[in-house]
Amino acid sequence: MCRHLAYLGPPVTLSSPVLDAPHSLRHQSYAPTDMRGGGTVNVDGFGAGWYPEPGGDALRYRSATPIWADDSFAALAAATRTTALLGAVRSATTGMPVTPAANAPFVDGRWLFSHNGRVAGWPDAVAAQAAQLPVTDLLTLDAPTDSALLWALVRRRLRAGEDPAAVLAGVVTTVAAAAPGSRLNLLLTDGATIWATAWDHALSLRVDDGCALVASEPLDDHPSWTGVPDRHLVVARPGDHRTEPLLTTTGVR
Ligand code: GLN
Repeated sequence: MCRHLAYLGPPVTLSSPVLDAPHSLRHQSYAPTDMRGGGTVNVDGFGAGWYPEPGGDALRYRSATPIWADDSFAALAAATRTTALLGAVRSATTGMPVTPAANAPFVDGRWLFSHNGRVAGWPDAVAAQAAQLPVTDLLTLDAPTDSALLWALVRRRLRAGEDPAAVLAGVVTTVAAAAPGSRLNLLLTDGATIWATAWDHALSLRVDDGCALVASEPLDDHPSWTGVPDRHLVVARPGDHRTEPLLTTTGVR
């Protein structure tokens, strides 16, 4: 199962959490410690999104190569500073394509999104959810993957102006009800706030006065890291966070 992270805080290079931290995404790509959903390594590609101007739209780099094998990204990441970023390394679910566009982050304006996990019974289990999307959304999916469909479901509701916490909670609980056994760790940022779900997969949080980090696995041994309880939603920004239970559509966790 993939690994992902989001950071908000003082300007850092992309390299800092993605390539350089003791347990960076690069390290997690070949030495993850909590792949509870199966798989052993995350080498089917990677991506990172960031903000050239705080408050502006995001930029993104993604590739289907292992993260350690991309010298162009290493050079870009060392030279790029940002106050917010979202990165991911991918372990493709069996049967899903290994292409650049199947990698997170998925982008829309200032939004950056990632999914860590899988939709059980793909694609039949979520046919009803997919059928609710306008055909233009379906024809412009980034890739024929569960993650890209989840992004399309999230994006449609964000574009309608819904509260991001309600959007993630709604998509996770609806898909979990339609496709029991799914692993649905979603991660979203607009560059000022991070929203994330833990649904049958690993997730950790570190928030202090200066920064907020949400990651599949802690990036270092800093004592502020805490595990996010399963089936919970996190909303985090520097100096502030809340964690609340995700309820299924029947109200039963
Ligand atoms: N199922 C998604 C994909 O194949 C995410 C994979 C993962 O989390 N390992 O792209």
